[in-house]
Amino acid sequence: MNKYDYLIAGAGLFGCVFAHEATAAGKKCLVIDRRSHIGGNIYTEERDGINVHVYGAHIFHTSDERVWNYVNRFVTFNNFVNSPIARYKDELYNLPFNMNTFYRMWGVATPAEAKAKIDGQIAGLGIGEPKNLEEQALKLVGRDVFEKLIKGYTEKQWGKSCKELPAFIIKRLPLRFVYDNNYFNDKYQGVAEGGYTRLAEKLLEGATVKLNCDYFDFIRENGRVAAKTVYTGMIDEYYGYRYGELEYRSLRFETERLEEENFQGNAVINYTGHEVPYTRIIEHKHFERAESPVTYITREYPAAWKRGDEPYYPVNDERNNALYEKYRALANNESDVIFGGRLGQYKYYDMDKVIEAALACADSQLK
Ligand code: UDP
Repeated sequence: MNKYDYLIAGAGLFGCVFAHEATAAGKKCLVIDRRSHIGGNIYTEERDGINVHVYGAHIFHTSDERVWNYVNRFVTFNNFVNSPIARYKDELYNLPFNMNTFYRMWGVATPAEAKAKIDGQIAGLGIGEPKNLEEQALKLVGRDVFEKLIKGYTEKQWGKSCKELPAFIIKRLPLRFVYDNNYFNDKYQGVAEGGYTRLAEKLLEGATVKLNCDYFDFIRENGRVAAKTVYTGMIDEYYGYRYGELEYRSLRFETERLEEENFQGNAVINYTGHEVPYTRIIEHKHFERAESPVTYITREYPAAWKRGDEPYYPVNDERNNALYEKYRALANNESDVIFGGRLGQYKYYDMDKVIEAALACADSQLK
């Protein structure tokens, strides 16, 4: 007899949602995590009355009503709207790419003028179906926006030339010919009031949680404790890297407490040039309009990933996707292990998509 119905490896969003659904369906769940806290990368920590997004900015956005209603059952979301600023040398631009950006870039005031400017910049480039991120970006916004706001940021972020990166990454960013600085196109958006850790706590109510607990060590020491496993770690690591390593991108966060009230006047400022080594600075208090005489900022430095580092982003190019398919074929043959989340499914998931996937997985498991 197994002690648990589900062993859930990883207390990130996928693991938390699955654990909640399974517990609600009367299943016994053991959730383990390598880290010393729950929540995975959505983990927030309160410091001086400010909720610090310890693993980078997490702004929730979705167009899926089921997902929006779901998260709002556990915590309240505020009305934060993400409107990052891009800084290129001494120039400041609004993001995403919209009429405010184009006005600042070229002095154009109407959508027709902006489109004409972009068309003029891409005429003669002979770009058909974009084969990579550079072609995709040039085709969408022209040479100036590409050079000032995309090229440096993207190459720092991914450690590769824009010519080597898949086009889809840039399509995450809206492009619009209206004066609208809302970074996302989704119907619903906000930040969890009081921090995301509370969301993870609520989702894990009723499950047994064990922290500082590595899955592989746990299995070595305890053998099988559950009828089924939900594994949200790296799928290639699970299989001992037998076909080789999938590529990930890592991040290094440098967080500072500053004795001033307002450091940069916005939650997110992107540094889009190559001359600055980090990609962005987050000022946490602005996510919730926290009142405090001090402030916390985090500089985000993209970093190469090697075994043992924290993997943040899957690198979903052709080579890696093909390798992932080989691992997925192994996973498909498992009758009692389910792979989920950014790392288990090697997918550049946003939070809402993770929840959708976890709910779908729970639906099919628990029906
Ligand atoms: N990007 C850019 N300039 C910016 C912000 C984003 O070129 O100022 C590009 C970059 O290629 C990045 C992609 O858009 O990898 C997606 O950005 P997003 O903000 O969605 O990334 P995340 O928040 O997931 O790190």
